[in-house]
Amino acid sequence: DLLVVGSANADLVIGLDRRPGPGETVLGSDLVIHPGGKGANQAAAAARLGARTTLLARVGDDAYGRMLAEAQRAAGAGTAGLLVGTADLPGTVDRPGTVSTDGAAQDAEEGKGAPTGVALITVDAAGDNSIVVSPGANARLTPDDVAAARDLFEAAAVVSLQLEIPLETVAAAARSAAEHGARVVLNPSPPAALPEDVLALCDPLVVNEHEARLLLDDGQPLSTEPEQWATALLALGPRSVVVTLGADGALVAGPGVDAGAADRIGTARVPSPRVKAVDTTGAGDAFTGALGWRLGRGDSLEEAVRYAVRVGALAVTRPGAQESYPSAQEVQAVGQE
Ligand code: ADP
Repeated sequence: DLLVVGSANADLVIGLDRRPGPGETVLGSDLVIHPGGKGANQAAAAARLGARTTLLARVGDDAYGRMLAEAQRAAGAGTAGLLVGTADLPGTVDRPGTVSTDGAAQDAEEGKGAPTGVALITVDAAGDNSIVVSPGANARLTPDDVAAARDLFEAAAVVSLQLEIPLETVAAAARSAAEHGARVVLNPSPPAALPEDVLALCDPLVVNEHEARLLLDDGQPLSTEPEQWATALLALGPRSVVVTLGADGALVAGPGVDAGAADRIGTARVPSPRVKAVDTTGAGDAFTGALGWRLGRGDSLEEAVRYAVRVGALAVTRPGAQESYPSAQEVQAVGQE
């Protein structure tokens, strides 16, 4: 099974000609609301492909939380790990009109649970987006929630992680995965410094170009060769590395890659099928969800990445994130497994 531990957000999207400056108001398009968040996206992508998938995440007791649960069910993912409300306040519900500015302590004081996480997204005429995320309930997914979800970790072959939930929860999940003999796939997004023991469990660490640059930024100019980034990222401690390269596919680096001996570090480029890109939102999440599932099925890292680039490529041919994710049949139609 694939266990995804991470975020679930409602993506609130408005198109506009140009963004307002401070104090300015502009008119935009009709509001469109999508299920999103890296954790929910990864779980939906894998489940849609036919993977037995569970999402461990936290949403608010509100309409967006119900929308996210419904999207997971529609994709075929298990929702036993989808926690609702705030942990130390069982049975609490949102009081409309109140705004939470702090953590669980304040919630307890006010007697309410945190709302579902929200991403406020504006897309301008050039197609560039600006995003404000309010983590809400995602910020209340705790190491205790990880401990309480023992059975989900026991059942998992692979545990997939991102950084839109508290870092201490990510660390607890990685350690629990290791304890239960599950493989850890981790996408450090948004980028943050990871504890050394957690980094050492990543197999692979999955980054896009932007994340690779941030992780490697030591004041030195970066080489233009992704092979060199991958080698430099491996030196930070993960067992293997995957760098996604958009339309150029992905790069794999680790022991045994490129038909090398199991103890030799190799790198391999995996090209993406050529497609007409319509909307790249959530492509990286589809890639990583597919990757985790294939690794759990016993694929080598290179084989899993060959499958994942096809899933990522299909995801960019349709608008939206979760709505754009392909079925296994569709993936089969774009190449041999
Ligand atoms: P992110 O979505 O995290 O920024 P990338 O842009 O590297 O990451 O995309 C992740 C994966 O999605 C790529 O490895 C590739 O498989 C697929 N992908 C993204 N953009 C395209 C594109 N224009 N054409 C084909 N595949 C793409």
